[in-house]
Amino acid sequence: MPINPDLPITPLTQQPTLREAVTQSLYAAIVSGALDEGLLYSAPVLGAALGVSATPVREAMMDLSREGFVERVKNKGFRITGLTKRAIREITEIRLLIEPIIVAGLAGRIPASALSELNGVANRALASAEAADLPGFQLADRDFHSEILRHHGNEELVKLATNLHMRTRLTAVKSLNDSDLLIDHAREHVEIVRLLESGDSSKAKHLMGRHVSQSGRGGSEEREESPNATAL
Ligand SMILES: [Zn+2]
Repeated sequence: MPINPDLPITPLTQQPTLREAVTQSLYAAIVSGALDEGLLYSAPVLGAALGVSATPVREAMMDLSREGFVERVKNKGFRITGLTKRAIREITEIRLLIEPIIVAGLAGRIPASALSELNGVANRALASAEAADLPGFQLADRDFHSEILRHHGNEELVKLATNLHMRTRLTAVKSLNDSDLLIDHAREHVEIVRLLESGDSSKAKHLMGRHVSQSGRGGSEEREESPNATAL
């Protein structure tokens, strides 16, 4: 498609910007637990750790705050968001109303080429789990669940469920990792693809229900945020 030079829009390039690179780095630090939930971090301190100025850190944090990973604390920095057990339970309850039913309806109906792509994502999650690569696992897990939902054909549902999934990412991944269940979780993805292929909707529904329930464990006690906790 020809570029229209009259439009004041910059063509996309493949080069990640400094802001994107910083966002990726901070995302990995949050998901892996290198940055603690509930603590405040200032942009200059994070910038110094990353070897960049505070500006791209602030920009990256604004992107991460839109995704719900951090919240801005005026004149202080950013707090890594955490979820209470209650919030995790409520989010898991919503996911359980959506994902098992969708997977049951899709069993035996996904074309072979799409199943093989799904299998690729499942294996990516498994490889990340085996390598204890938490950020990699989290992204592959997100992709796996959203890819399945996408086959149902309701984009709003994909957005809703993916957003819920990502909000529980930290506590869910940590609890799975703590109890050495990360690899089991990843293996269930492979099994879910197999059940989708064989067309066994009741087993697929049952397994997805167990899978989502398992990843919904964890979360902190019903504490309130401690506004003065700081890592500055
Ligand atoms: Zn999963």
